[in-house]
Amino acid sequence: MSDLFENALNSIKLGIDDYQSNDDRRPVSAIRNFYAGVLLLGKECLVRAAPDADPMDIIASHYRPVPDENGGLIHEPKGYSTIDLNEMRNRFKSFGIDWPEGDIKSLQKLRNDFEHFHSVAPTEKIRQAIAGCFPLVEGFFRNLEEDPAVALGEAWEVMLAEEAFFNRQKQECNSSFEKLPWGDSLSNTNEIACSNCGSTLIYQQDKGNSDPASIRGKCLACGEAITAEATVKLIVDAEHGVDDYISVKDGAEQIIHDCPECCEPTYVSGGDVNFCYFCDFSVEGECARCMCGLTVENQSVNNPNLCDYCDHMAEKIMRE
Ligand SMILES: [Zn+2]
Ligand SMILES: [Zn+2]
Ligand SMILES: [Zn+2]
Repeated sequence: MSDLFENALNSIKLGIDDYQSNDDRRPVSAIRNFYAGVLLLGKECLVRAAPDADPMDIIASHYRPVPDENGGLIHEPKGYSTIDLNEMRNRFKSFGIDWPEGDIKSLQKLRNDFEHFHSVAPTEKIRQAIAGCFPLVEGFFRNLEEDPAVALGEAWEVMLAEEAFFNRQKQECNSSFEKLPWGDSLSNTNEIACSNCGSTLIYQQDKGNSDPASIRGKCLACGEAITAEATVKLIVDAEHGVDDYISVKDGAEQIIHDCPECCEPTYVSGGDVNFCYFCDFSVEGECARCMCGLTVENQSVNNPNLCDYCDHMAEKIMRE
């Protein structure tokens, strides 16, 4: 077994040990060890892809060009720093290795937060970070053609259990929204991010509530209470934020609008969706003057019976 691989396994095991202990200081060390272990595992994938090369030549972060003996040029590692997460991802690409799915970003963020603020992490956040990394760790092991259950032993069982537990929590959070008018159409709830801690574990406290304006939202990870308006906005952004971003970037209309009725930024118009997630208002009908179909984009703010153009024209005529 290579040193790198062994170090990777040890770090992950240590991280999981720390995670399971009840000592207050251990969560910081859990995140640090676990994150280091996942990175090392990724580096091992790169090293095994070029087995005859010096590992340091593969995972160094900086190189400098030096002349070789034959009048050519080689690049040798400069300093001892090795690739970070982003560099590793790029190197996977240039090595032609598939980057596994999985969310290492929240783990990375958690780790950076700790380094800078020495904050106390709630267990829920660490659990989510570990669960989020799970597919990534699995993917690295697949690439290495190693069996994680054998390599990690008990630590792997803990990870499996944490992932299952997290998925159950997420399922419960999702189901708390089921009674809402759009509750069974949600498909992107993994993109929800608590504005306080980044967790996706947002739910409404009264599962039976079916009125968006009466939602009492809460984050299961950090305990933050979230207003009805903010909860609906989190959901709208999760469901449609990416489409909205792409659409605007391509020079097309935005998809998420301020609602003409309740003024919340929760009116969605795009694809087959055309209503406000907060107040259920929907722009419908035709312009009274030109008979064009009214939409949230073209409806006049001054006169809801007219399109922007006709409202403008009507005003002009009045003034003349
Ligand atoms: Zn939170
Ligand atoms: Zn509205
Ligand atoms: Zn018109």
